[in-house]
Amino acid sequence: MNNIENFKLLLDTPKQIVITVHINPDADALGSALGFASILKQQGHDVTVVTPNEYPEFLKWMKGDEQVVVFENEEQEIKALLAQTDMIFCLDFSDLNRIGALGELVRSAQAVKVMIDHHLEPEAFADFEMWSVQAGATAELIYDLAEAMDWLKYIGAEEADCLYAGIMTDTGGFRHPNTTKHIHEVVANLIGMGANTSRIAKLVYDNNTESRLRLMGFALSQRLVVMKEHNVAYIYLSLDDQKKFDVQKGDTEGLVNYALSIAEITVAAFFTESKDMIKISFRSVGSFSVNEFARQHFNGGGHNNAAGGRSDLSLQDTIEKFKSLVINNKIELEHEIKTV
Ligand code: 5GP
Ligand code: MN
Repeated sequence: MNNIENFKLLLDTPKQIVITVHINPDADALGSALGFASILKQQGHDVTVVTPNEYPEFLKWMKGDEQVVVFENEEQEIKALLAQTDMIFCLDFSDLNRIGALGELVRSAQAVKVMIDHHLEPEAFADFEMWSVQAGATAELIYDLAEAMDWLKYIGAEEADCLYAGIMTDTGGFRHPNTTKHIHEVVANLIGMGANTSRIAKLVYDNNTESRLRLMGFALSQRLVVMKEHNVAYIYLSLDDQKKFDVQKGDTEGLVNYALSIAEITVAAFFTESKDMIKISFRSVGSFSVNEFARQHFNGGGHNNAAGGRSDLSLQDTIEKFKSLVINNKIELEHEIKTV
């Protein structure tokens, strides 16, 4: 955190605080926000967690979940709140474009802004920043901040559960290269504080509905395309497909990883059709930066090995665009696989 002494001073007296996270909140966004909200509330601050839009059922177990306000559902109330709040914390994103219409409201608010994040290429909008691309999860940064601020005493079992969920998912279950010695140490301490790791794994990973599992089966058997000669695989789901399987928010989470799990595949994509755009998830292993790729070609960004983007073309045209980019980048991708 830059300017930590001033940050401490600011939080010495009770403040009205809004915590917000990126659109389509994941376990790291929500776990960081709710864990941190509880840490602040215990010190007498008045805290509201605001998400830009709805989030999946499998994340609705965290402490304070029932108090989360969804901007899409309560725009006017949140507009009024942002105009008068003392501080706004932006967690797990560092570019105000990542929160849709909420971004402009945050930008124009008088409040002191604090950004805590680990995504590449941050925007300079905050008064205080705790940003590290080395961090595997924002939840790890929240833990580090709590340690620096002498707030670890506010992390009980429920707060530890929230932060653990963020770390577990953002490291891909402790499999990605962001799984450092430090992150294991943080997790060891969270377990010491009462995090229930097996319960959280069950809640997050093994909480399928039958229709979700059947959707996965369908996607893998009918909607997976392997471009073997390019070391690329992708999955797509049309609006019709989603209707057929009654797809709910979060049902497609993690699907892209199956495409990446094929032995020789180094880059994977997942295209989901929605009413107004095509949402794309990118994953890679090794040094091919899907962040760069998403940023350059699909109006997105993220991390080197996990990024997202969007397209305003049709599903078919988006896939064609992707395929032609892959074919034209052939040499680069072949090079990447040798360096993995
Ligand atoms: P996912 O594929 O799981 O939606 O996202 C993977 C990573 O990329 C996450 O860290 C997410 O925050 C980031 N991401 C997803 N979509 C976008 C996007 O449209 N723009 C940017 N800048 N980042 C994104
Ligand atoms: Mn994250």
